[in-house]
Amino acid sequence: MNRRMKEKYLKIFIPLLVGLIFILLIWVGYKLIFGKKLSFLETIDKSIYADINYDAIYGIHLNFKGSFVLPDNYHDMKLVLANGKDEIEIPIEVKEKDGKREFVTSNFINKGINLEYLPVGTYYLLIKASTNENNKEVDKYFSVTNKTDYDNLEYYTLTKNGKNNKIDIEWNTYEEYPTLRFTVKETSLPSDVYDITIDPGHGGVDTGAIGYLDGTEYHESNLNLTVSLALKKILEERGYKVAITRSTDENIEIYEKGGSAVLANETKSKFNFALHHNSFDYQAEELNGLEVYVASDIEFDFANLLIENIIKETGTQISPKEIYQTVPGIYQRYFSEDDILEDEVQPSNKTTSMIYYYNIRELGGISTHSTNDGRYKDINGYPANPYNKANVTTEPYLLELGYVNNEENLKLIVGNEEKYALGIANAIEKYLETSF
Ligand SMILES: [Zn+2]
Repeated sequence: MNRRMKEKYLKIFIPLLVGLIFILLIWVGYKLIFGKKLSFLETIDKSIYADINYDAIYGIHLNFKGSFVLPDNYHDMKLVLANGKDEIEIPIEVKEKDGKREFVTSNFINKGINLEYLPVGTYYLLIKASTNENNKEVDKYFSVTNKTDYDNLEYYTLTKNGKNNKIDIEWNTYEEYPTLRFTVKETSLPSDVYDITIDPGHGGVDTGAIGYLDGTEYHESNLNLTVSLALKKILEERGYKVAITRSTDENIEIYEKGGSAVLANETKSKFNFALHHNSFDYQAEELNGLEVYVASDIEFDFANLLIENIIKETGTQISPKEIYQTVPGIYQRYFSEDDILEDEVQPSNKTTSMIYYYNIRELGGISTHSTNDGRYKDINGYPANPYNKANVTTEPYLLELGYVNNEENLKLIVGNEEKYALGIANAIEKYLETSF
């Protein structure tokens, strides 16, 4: 080869070779990234689908209800999040009804799939079942179809070491087949998204309960605010982003922007703590101590941790009050027949199976049977709750920290507000460490 030919050869052949290798690398990369996922979904049996009839995120948990007609030759029906590589089994309760298998992830609204612990990745919600093919047990997958009134869901995990995951739960993302895809990506919180909301009860002209100690008058509204600000500070020191309905002694509207019944959902907070102090009727028995008001259909893990940790830090006790008490310290106050007759008292549309306190009922959307659609605005003055039909909501708790018209109890409260706050903050920490 002479020099000119050699130069020509290098000028044409080498770039051509580099180009071909480059194209090959892109093709191999594409196959590695997308090849597996496509081939996995290709293997799914697309002749039948499970119906998802209900989906709701309440606090940190996602719940599904659905049904599936499992073919005769199949057994061991499971619900999984899978992508062909990783597989997470989701525990379900199944019962047979009209030839269908009805399944639910949990009968408790604050259980089900804990979104905090879903690893980064892409998954599809699928039914997995086994069948016998040529004397061999084989697993088959079936997809799910949307029979709810809702579309895609979005969730941000609580801030941990300054980081969050965003979870997009989206319907029908693969060709023409019904699917439900979970995409978990690391992100940081957008400016309008928070971890936790605190709602110091009352304020301004509404002082709430009143008590006296050594000639000084104490207002519930101020005690609520002191504990709330202390709690906000502790949680922020622990890395959480915290929203609060008021930081000063002011009266706020319940359903207006930033109000007690909406802020937690506006900020996509995972938990809402309405902080209150109590008073008893002087004609009735003298009361003192702690009462935790909760939603219906919940598991009491977190409520018990609140009680345990507040008592540990403050030395208070569980209230002896029996009315509305479900188990010691935990209260579920439902609308009574009398409440229902008085439409002025609360936004209406109510039944005796609904929780009385708007701080619990209205904040949970469909999970807690929120009632206020604004139809009685002219009577009770309450505009509609914008999250009345929401299926992604906060998990709310209403804490009555003690009785301000009980002198002994007030002595324990005044000056110890930070201890009450610490008890609540520690309960949050313990709950997140132990809940799955
Ligand atoms: Zn109160």
